[in-house]
Amino acid sequence: MAQQKRDYYEVLGVSKGASEDEIKKAYRKIAIKYHPDRNPGDKVAEEKFKEAAEAYDVLHDPQKRQQYDQFGFDGPMGGGAGGFGGGFGGGFSMDDIFSMFGDVFGGHGGGFGGQRGGRPAQHRGADLRLKVRLSLEEIATGVTKKFKVKKDVTCSHCHGSGAEAGSGKATCPTCHGSGVVTRTTQSLFGMMQTQSVCPTCEGEGMVIKNKCKACGGTGVVKGEEVVEINIPAGVAEGMVVNVQGKGNAGIHNGIAGNIQVYIEEEPNDTFVRDGQDLIYNLLLDFPTAALGGQVEIPTISGSKVKIKIEPGTQPGKALRLRGKGLPAVQGYGHGNGDLVVHISVYVPKTLSKEEKKQLEEMQNSDNFKGDTATKQTIFQRFRSYFN
Ligand SMILES: [Zn+2]
Ligand SMILES: [Zn+2]
Repeated sequence: MAQQKRDYYEVLGVSKGASEDEIKKAYRKIAIKYHPDRNPGDKVAEEKFKEAAEAYDVLHDPQKRQQYDQFGFDGPMGGGAGGFGGGFGGGFSMDDIFSMFGDVFGGHGGGFGGQRGGRPAQHRGADLRLKVRLSLEEIATGVTKKFKVKKDVTCSHCHGSGAEAGSGKATCPTCHGSGVVTRTTQSLFGMMQTQSVCPTCEGEGMVIKNKCKACGGTGVVKGEEVVEINIPAGVAEGMVVNVQGKGNAGIHNGIAGNIQVYIEEEPNDTFVRDGQDLIYNLLLDFPTAALGGQVEIPTISGSKVKIKIEPGTQPGKALRLRGKGLPAVQGYGHGNGDLVVHISVYVPKTLSKEEKKQLEEMQNSDNFKGDTATKQTIFQRFRSYFN
């Protein structure tokens, strides 16, 4: 906590005894003034915006406010995990601020352009959804896919400002720059004041003198963009990969929406997926099952591995090749899954005369007699199954 922090009440410009409503109004005013939509690229404004969000986060929550009043920045834990200094040390991103305090602006989640009553926020571009169908091989390694996405893009004619070249902005005549309109109405309980986002400037406080002819003043136009999307290894059907800032452009250089990429998985001819494990069904020839030997198994990477077959290997046996399955998606689970080889034994469908003779000889050998030919009772078979 080396950095000097300003008192939260001072930041919002309210008294220690300010009501919740006063705090909210004060924050709203500062947030609108220093909003990044109105101060693009202005680092000082961004710091002020964040500072106000931090102060508001503490002061609008009665419990946090009481702790702050009593203990200051350090909080009750003396600057540890519970302290404001540690916990709120300017760690908010812009997105955090919009998602936490979006209601202050009247919209939710986005900028402050929306109005109370469910109209979507105007300044954040809408999210887009995409589906991507992946092969198991692509899932095993992760893959970068390119998409041509039809979406709202920033107007190149006005660079998103919505104004014709040379035409500046003027203070909004409706709200005189505050971005909000206050209405005083007479009610049963006396005079009532209600505040809402200014309908003329949609909260910006400024209006465009000459609207851009290309976009009609919104700063966005219909367009296309080729978007590269990195899909991490290990994803599965139904997962959603969120690509920030690649959705629709926001009005007047507002924050762009995201692209949500829905994962679909193609069935694979060779392997069956079971979580991170891959199952391979090995159809073993009878002589190798009986005599033992080596067989080659395909892997998802395309290379082959040799596995050892013990003499007398029974159908239904499973062999586990550690780490030859699918990787975990970053942050979920750990390590690679396994390649599980399920063994079944191939029985030829047709036989030559010679083969038939050889098999008939085996059939007569006691060593080749299976369960059905032995005199085991059902109970004995049952017991041996569990042993
Ligand atoms: Zn334009
Ligand atoms: Zn206005």
